[in-house]
Amino acid sequence: MEHWLIGVFASIDAGLGVKLEVVRDLGIKTIQLHTPHKKKRTPENAAAFKKQLSDYGITITTVFLGFEGESYETIEITAKTVGFVPPSTRSARLTEAFEISDFAKLLDVTAIGSHIGFIPHDRNSSDYKEVVETIRRLCDHLLKNGQTLHLETGQESVDSLLAFINDVQRDNLFINFDPANLILYGIGNPIGALKTVGRYVRGVHCKDALATTGKPGVDWGREVPFGTGQVNAELFLQTLHEIGYHGALTIEREIPEEPQRQKEEIGQAVQLISQLKTKILNI
Ligand code: MG
Repeated sequence: MEHWLIGVFASIDAGLGVKLEVVRDLGIKTIQLHTPHKKKRTPENAAAFKKQLSDYGITITTVFLGFEGESYETIEITAKTVGFVPPSTRSARLTEAFEISDFAKLLDVTAIGSHIGFIPHDRNSSDYKEVVETIRRLCDHLLKNGQTLHLETGQESVDSLLAFINDVQRDNLFINFDPANLILYGIGNPIGALKTVGRYVRGVHCKDALATTGKPGVDWGREVPFGTGQVNAELFLQTLHEIGYHGALTIEREIPEEPQRQKEEIGQAVQLISQLKTKILNI
């Protein structure tokens, strides 16, 4: 596949991300797809969807897990509702993740992305061990489908994430690096973090943010268009080049309430990334 294909985070129903028509209009050729709702994950829909993507000339690089009841309203609510960490929904979500993996296989997709949530910090606690075991089981299911699991960065320090990956001990476990999340969640400098986890990075989000002026880790930072925040877009891509990352550059801009502005800003991000590609890769 071509080096650094530009992508965008998309959905085909009311999930996160832009609609396919927007992807087509902007001339973008790859997407990370937020999983469709359960009712839509049928073999018939997979076939119809594949046909539509092929007509538009779009390839899916990753299917992202998403579950009923998840909310990113505040950092505290995120911790209580997102991913595989909340105990009350853990096993049901694991079962659903298997189904999403099977659906992604019907779409010929070989990577599954996931926010796993705020991993418990005590590595000796039963809660931590249960999350590790859950991700092992997920990786094992994905392996049968020829898929890798890409953990989204943001909710953990990269050192905690690396310790977790070590504890899971599965060869198909990698990272989807979102530099803006480190700023939004108040974790720290994304460029240093990217260098630390470089060998695990198999997907990225081109997203930008400004740190909170309130309490880091308690109050959200603010998401802004790529290239206008504190990520430093050029240094981010330069660092991706240095760590040998060749995969897709997937733009993420989550302002579904303003679709026109969302489309414009994604278009601007495409231009910026194209210019930086030329500059950094000499192409
Ligand atoms: Mg992201």
